Amino acid sequence: MIDVRDKKNTENFYTDDPNLRRLLKESLPTDFFKWADIELKRYGELCAGPIDERATHTDREGEPKLIRYDKMGNEVSKVWLNEGYKQSVNDTYNTGVVGYVHKEIPSLGHKGNYVYSYALKYLLSHSEPGLACPVTLTKATAYLIDHYASDELKEKYLPHVISTGETELYEGATFLTERQGGSDVGANEVSAVKSGNVYRITGEKYFASNAGACGVAMVLARVKGAEAGTKGLSLFLVPWEENRAAGQLRIRRLKDKLGVRAVPSAEVEFEGAVGYLIGEENRGFYYMIEALNLSRISNAVASLGIMRRAYIEARNYAMDRVAFGKNLTQYPMIQATLSKMVAKQEVEMNAMFRVIELMDKVMGLDTKHTATEEEKVLFRLYVAVMKKETAEQAVHFAHEAIEMHGGNGYIEDFVTPRLLRDAQVLTVWEGTANILGLEVLRLLNRYNVEKLFASEMRERLAQVNVPSELVPLVSVLENELNDLLERVREIKKLPDDLQTYYSKDIAKWFADIFESVVAVEEASKDERMMKIAEVYLKNVWEEKSVQAKHADIIHFKDIVDLK
Ligand SMILES: Cc1cc2nc3c(=O)[nH]c(=O)nc-3n(C[C@H](O)[C@H](O)[C@H](O)COP(=O)(O)OP(=O)(O)OC[C@H]3O[C@@H](n4cnc5c(N)ncnc54)[C@H](O)[C@@H]3O)c2cc1C
Repeated sequence: MIDVRDKKNTENFYTDDPNLRRLLKESLPTDFFKWADIELKRYGELCAGPIDERATHTDREGEPKLIRYDKMGNEVSKVWLNEGYKQSVNDTYNTGVVGYVHKEIPSLGHKGNYVYSYALKYLLSHSEPGLACPVTLTKATAYLIDHYASDELKEKYLPHVISTGETELYEGATFLTERQGGSDVGANEVSAVKSGNVYRITGEKYFASNAGACGVAMVLARVKGAEAGTKGLSLFLVPWEENRAAGQLRIRRLKDKLGVRAVPSAEVEFEGAVGYLIGEENRGFYYMIEALNLSRISNAVASLGIMRRAYIEARNYAMDRVAFGKNLTQYPMIQATLSKMVAKQEVEMNAMFRVIELMDKVMGLDTKHTATEEEKVLFRLYVAVMKKETAEQAVHFAHEAIEMHGGNGYIEDFVTPRLLRDAQVLTVWEGTANILGLEVLRLLNRYNVEKLFASEMRERLAQVNVPSELVPLVSVLENELNDLLERVREIKKLPDDLQTYYSKDIAKWFADIFESVVAVEEASKDERMMKIAEVYLKNVWEEKSVQAKHADIIHFKDIVDLK
């Protein structure tokens, strides 16, 4: 296989990414960072090496296969996974990507957190976004069991779901979507009937990722007689293997997908499958919504991983390729593309990890701080706008990487086509852009989130010692914030339906302002981050007038690593 990494070697996705290391060093306590730094170095090398090679194999030749019948014609509904993929599964969960959010890291004597967990997930998404999906599902499953399951269920299942190699791993799954609607979860029809201490689940789930590979699935179903809509949905833990062996569930088919081919996504039929109630009846949707925040952040982190990989591939190719007698990196258009990519990716990454720090606070993993009610509302806003923005950027970055390679970018010998195929799902699952726009509207109308946001952004800007180069840009940013408030005020006067028309524009505006404020905060820390901020801010806010000097070209050599 021809791989452009043979030319400029990227042997370790962690050590190649000084921004990631810098932000972890700032965010994690010293002892935790010291330990994490070693672990991430090891995993970053695995992701750039064997995990990446196995991902190529899985995507092209080794995708999951449904074994519907055994040799005697009995229905078995098993899923075959290739050995390399299974090795990547073990390599990944053994890092504690899920486990150490819920249990102690032995050598440190305390739990990990989401910052560390998402750093691992980010590295994985450079090479295997298909496996990053089950990791997210398992994270959500662990969260739901840990927070809402009975002690008995917790004792039986949680150690397996959070296994780091000491006991059999049960990967998780979350089954919400049915044929009649994924966005409209309230239309769910799968039913549950109480039978002694358990419930019997019947009906069909239409998109069920990790079916056949999971140990337990978290399934939304309506207890017979419960009210219509989301308020009548309950959450059940459905052990996969015992139900499969008893013929109480079956996989109808695996989806033939554009990308993320490593994860089996299935249509599953339940025929009286045994399910254990999680928490209280009719509260299932609300539990799932909490887990959905976690999955949406995962989605954003996966997007950032794909963005970084797309940038690496584009940069490495440009460094090697000669056209019209000059190296590509000598052309202003190429310099502008690479500068904009690295600036956007790093600023978005920094912004996202601020959200993840807030998540640790909201989820109670930050032992020193508790989140206020205002912070909880802002957290929901950041999750919605950043999920949307990062997913769209992942697709855009994959496109840019293909463009940078010319014809080679379109050819499957290179990773670029897979990046595009894998990125495309990120805008759909965990909520489409429209659904996220509606969430933003809800927050505007219920909590006046725009006011909380504006005061938080102003406060943060006031605390920064803004470098002189950025002062005019910060004025523009402050005006944009005022314009946002003005626009929202106008939109709120409109009838509900018309408000939805603007919701995605508003979401984009929130994302741009939030990222810009983070860019300014980081700019005061060192010279390179100042240049990154300048390129980012000019690209987003500056009017496109004809000029002789452009930050993306002037700063190219200082922000794009050409070594
Ligand atoms: C590969 C893959 C794996 C998946 N795995 C899982 C899984 O493991 N578990 C699971 O539960 N689901 C899974 N899904 C399903 C996924 O979450 C849904 O596809 C997604 O939520 C969208 O739902 P839908 O497909 O029913 O589209 P619809 O809800 O029918 O939406 C179609 C279009 O209508 C728009 N729309 C819907 N409502 C509105 C509205 N009120 N206003 C404006 N526009 C609207 C949407 O934005 C979208 O553009 C998976 C999907 C894929 C592609």
